[in-house]
Amino acid sequence: MSESKGNLAVWQGGTVWLTGLPSAGKTTIAMGLAEHLQADGHRVQVLDGDEVRAALSAELGFSKEDRDINVRRIGYVAGLLAGHGVTVLVPVIAPYALSRATVQDLHAARDLPYVEIHVATSVEICADRDVKGLYARQAAGELSGLTGADDVYEVPVDPDLRVDTQHQTVNESVRQVRALLTARGLS
Ligand code: ADP
Repeated sequence: MSESKGNLAVWQGGTVWLTGLPSAGKTTIAMGLAEHLQADGHRVQVLDGDEVRAALSAELGFSKEDRDINVRRIGYVAGLLAGHGVTVLVPVIAPYALSRATVQDLHAARDLPYVEIHVATSVEICADRDVKGLYARQAAGELSGLTGADDVYEVPVDPDLRVDTQHQTVNESVRQVRALLTARGLS
């Protein structure tokens, strides 16, 4: 939803968290969505998991505790941006329900819109896509603690939307998320 200030549309900010396994399609959907939203005049920030980890959480590993801290940090930054009218797209695994809930609560406490999207691609399809070669490395014993393979992913019980990428084109998935944002006054 936008209000008009002079000729400028001022959009309501908010955070859209795309959670799911590695290679589920989180980044692809976020980038596609960002293009659409920017074309319509939104201020958009994608908080890429690898980039933000390198910038804000380089000292952290992939234990439960470290993953939780990382997710809370990202959630905090997302909230700051959302509070300034930015649509923040967060394609980050966030495997634990409690840390996702913490981020949601942080937004609720500031009355900021928050949408949880479960990019619900099966581990078999993700391992087949294996965009970064992580599943192959895990299978070869070169890496451990890979979410969905040998580490926990707590499936969201009640997300705002589940996206079934294995039966959709990228454009269809992007449109599905966009439709939800429109319904929530975020687009
Ligand atoms: P993630 O960010 O979840 O680790 P990526 O977005 O980097 O995953 O990779 C997902 C891969 O799946 C990409 O190669 C993308 O083209 C492909 N893909 C196929 N169908 C879809 C879809 N409907 N939505 C998103 N990605 C899809």
